[in-house]
Amino acid sequence: MTRIPVIQAADPALAQAMGEVRAMLAACMQCGTCSASCPNAQSMDMTPRRMWRLVLMGRADAVFSSGAFWMCSNCYACTLRCPRGLPLTSAMNALKRIAGASGHPALARHGAFYRAFLDNVRRRGRVRETEMMMHYFSAAGPGEALRFTPLGLRLMRRGKVRLELGSGPWDGALAPLFERAARLEGKEARQ
Ligand code: SF4
Ligand code: SF4
Repeated sequence: MTRIPVIQAADPALAQAMGEVRAMLAACMQCGTCSASCPNAQSMDMTPRRMWRLVLMGRADAVFSSGAFWMCSNCYACTLRCPRGLPLTSAMNALKRIAGASGHPALARHGAFYRAFLDNVRRRGRVRETEMMMHYFSAAGPGEALRFTPLGLRLMRRGKVRLELGSGPWDGALAPLFERAARLEGKEARQ
């Protein structure tokens, strides 16, 4: 995957927010089971084990200059297999949340893509690629639309992406799941 631009070392807001994730990982013994269990590790520019090490070292610059946590698909394999019982999937999500909320220009594009993807799944019950990308382009700007145009046209020619407008049979089907997750996250944050 493409690396995002290097974040300034010692960005104080990011470094402070990362304290929450550091606390989740304090007992990591660097065994690497999480990396070996992760089905997406090959697409990440650093393994989960390495990322946890950098988190524990307070290296916000290296963590947020990597796109690794954006590649986590919440499969929970690492969480289930970590011999220390650490909440690794929640830690990945916390990094996404911190990066998305930071307003740091180097992180804005990834955050906008992630939000457009999840919002589309919540509203439509599955991903509608064209609608999701329109939502993303409106957040990320015309430069991003131009960057994706050749790929979009290629995919459309091959029938991989369809123009789907109006309501669909799965609209709202996953909304209760999102609401429950939001309730659980709120409860988790309060604990
Ligand atoms: S599996 Fe758990 S203990 Fe092992 S490296 Fe990963 S986070 Fe650390
Ligand atoms: S939850 Fe994320 S980091 Fe953990 S194994 Fe699954 S994809 Fe990898």
